[in-house]
Amino acid sequence: MRKYAPADFTKVDLTGDFWRERLETVLTRTIPSQYKKLGSEGILESLDLKDPPPPLRIPRNHMGFTTQFFWDSDIGKWIEAAAYALSHRRDAAIEAQIDEIVDKLEAGQCEDGYLNFWYVGHEFDKRWTNLRDRHELYNCGHLLEGAIAYFQATGRRKMLDVMERYLDHIRATFGTEAGKKRGYPGHQEIEIALVKLYHLTGEKKHLDLAAYFIDERGRQPHYFDIEAVERGDDPKAYVFGSHEYSQSHMPVREQTKVVGHAVRAMYMYAAMADLAADLEDPDLKKACETLWSDVTTTRMYVTGGFGPSASNEGFTTDYDLPNDTAYAETCASVAMIFWAQRMLNLDLDGQYGDMLELALFNGALSGLSRDGEHYFYENKLESDGSHQRWEWHPCPCCTMNVSRLVASVGGYFYSTGEDLIAVHLYGGNHAELDVSGRKVALTETSNFPWSGEINLSVDPESPGQFTVKLRIPEWAKGATASVNGNPVEIPANLDKGYLAITRDWSKGDIITLDLPMTPERIYANPKVRMDLDRVTLRRGPLVYCLEQIDNPDAPITLLALPRDATVSVEDRLDLFDGIVVLKAEGKAMRTDDWTGTLYRTTPPEESTKTLTAVPYYLWANREPGPMTVWIREH
Ligand SMILES: [Zn+2]
Repeated sequence: MRKYAPADFTKVDLTGDFWRERLETVLTRTIPSQYKKLGSEGILESLDLKDPPPPLRIPRNHMGFTTQFFWDSDIGKWIEAAAYALSHRRDAAIEAQIDEIVDKLEAGQCEDGYLNFWYVGHEFDKRWTNLRDRHELYNCGHLLEGAIAYFQATGRRKMLDVMERYLDHIRATFGTEAGKKRGYPGHQEIEIALVKLYHLTGEKKHLDLAAYFIDERGRQPHYFDIEAVERGDDPKAYVFGSHEYSQSHMPVREQTKVVGHAVRAMYMYAAMADLAADLEDPDLKKACETLWSDVTTTRMYVTGGFGPSASNEGFTTDYDLPNDTAYAETCASVAMIFWAQRMLNLDLDGQYGDMLELALFNGALSGLSRDGEHYFYENKLESDGSHQRWEWHPCPCCTMNVSRLVASVGGYFYSTGEDLIAVHLYGGNHAELDVSGRKVALTETSNFPWSGEINLSVDPESPGQFTVKLRIPEWAKGATASVNGNPVEIPANLDKGYLAITRDWSKGDIITLDLPMTPERIYANPKVRMDLDRVTLRRGPLVYCLEQIDNPDAPITLLALPRDATVSVEDRLDLFDGIVVLKAEGKAMRTDDWTGTLYRTTPPEESTKTLTAVPYYLWANREPGPMTVWIREH
C-alpha cells in the first residue's frame, strides 16, 4: 500500500491560461499531426507486415542499427498520448484510428503471444537474441502503456488483452526458473508499464515481473555477454564498451553513480521508486535517494536537462555540462519528471517537487514548439543559431514523450494520502479529489507561472479535519500564507519544503499563498568550467535565456551582465500571448575598433546595452538566431 498516490489527471481540470494553452495545443495540433507523421514516415505501414518487407526508410548505420527496430514504441506512445486526449474529450475519429491500429496489433501477434513488427517482418529467427541493443522489451512497455491508457479512456480492452497475451509469453521466456532466459531489457521502460498494469489489475504477477527485471539487471555472469556469445559476437567488441551504458554494469541496488544513457537511467530510477513504494523496500528506496543526490549535485543542467553527451546520449563525468554541445534529450527531462513524481509517492520532500517543476517548465517544455508541431530532441543551453526545431526526427521518441506528458500534466499537481492532500504544482485548476473517503474540491485561481499570488479554495463535501500540504518552492524566498485571512506561520509549519496546514476544513475555506517571484541570479559550482564567470537568470520556476532577436544591437556572446545591475521585470503582452521578460542594463564588448586586428595589448572597449531575457522554454519560436542561458557576468 502506497503512502501517497498522485491524483488522476482526469480529476484535475486545468483552467489557468498557461497550461490550458499548452494542453489545447497538444490536443488539437500535436496529437493529430503526430498521427499524420506516423503515416507519412511509414511507421503505421510497418504494421501491415508486407512480404517481402519494403526497403528500410531509415538505413542501418555502421553498427547495423536502424531506429525502425523500435517503431512499435512510437505507435504505443502515440496511442498513450491520444488516449489521454480522449480522457479529456472523446473523439470518434481518433478512436477509429486507434482501433484500426489495435486490429493490426492483434493480427500481427504470433501464436505464442510474441508481438514485434520488426522481428516478425524482418528477422523472426533472431527474436530474443539481442536484448542489449534491440529494444523488444522497451517496445512492449510502450505498447502496454498505450493499451492501459486506451482502456482507461474508453473501456475498450482489446489492446490490453493483446498485451496481456504478450506478457504471458514474456513471463514464460524470462525469469530465474530453470529453462528460462535470465534476460532483462537493454533499454528500460517496461518496468514502469508493468507497475501501471499492476495498479490497474491488482495482479501481483505484473509487479513481480517488473521486480525481476530490476533485480536481475547487472548480475554476473552478465546476460548481455552470454547472449552476445550465443549470437557469435565478441562481448568485448561492444560498441559502448561498458555496460554502464545501460546501467547494467552492477546490480541496481549497488549503484551509486548516475551513468550511461540518460533516458534509460531515468526510466530505471522511476521504476525503482515505483517498486520501492509498492514492495515497501527500504533498500531500493535508499538506492534511489543515493542516485538522486548524485545526479542533482553533479550531473544536471540548470534547466533540468540530463545527459551532456551525444556519443552515449547520456552522462559523462561530474561537472561536465557543456552548453553549446549539450545533448539534454527531451525524453530525459520527461523521464526525470516521472522519477520525481514517484519519489513523491515515497516521501513528501520538496526537493522532488522542486525538481518536478524545474524539469517540467524548462528542460521538458522546451522540447515542444509554440505551434505544437516542431520539436527539439537536444535541448542545448547555447546556440549560434544553427540549432533549430524540426518537424520530425529519424528517432521520434521525444515527440510523443512530450505530448503524453502535456496531455496528462494535471496528474502531477496533487497527491493524496491518509487524511492528506499535497499540492506539488501551481497553475489555475479545479480538482475533485478523494481524501480518505471524503470528497474535496480544490479550486486554484492564479496567473502562475507569471505571478506567485495563489488563491486555493478548499471545499470538502462535509466538514472535517485533514491536512493540506503546499509545496513552498525553493525559489520562493519570503513566501507568506494565510487561511481565510489568518496568517499561517511558514517556517514553523514547514515540513521538508511543504507547508502543512491541519485543521477542520469546511466549504468556502480559502488558502492564500504569496510566492514572491523576485528575479534571481543563479551561479554554477565553479567546478563546472563551462559556466565560470557566468550567471543565469531565473524567476519563479522559469529559467531565462538571451535570444538574439530580443537583443539586436550586439552578438549575444559579447553581452555581459554586471554583478551590481538590477534585474527588473516587464510584462510583455505582445509576446507569446503575454509573458514576463527580464531586463537589465548590461554591457556589450565593441568590435568596431578591432577591424584588421586579431590580438592587441588593450582589452576590448565596452558600451552600455539593455539586456532582455525570455523564458528558456520559449526559445527558437521566432526567427532563427543565437541563444544563451549563461551570460558573462562582470
Ligand atoms: Zn527522445
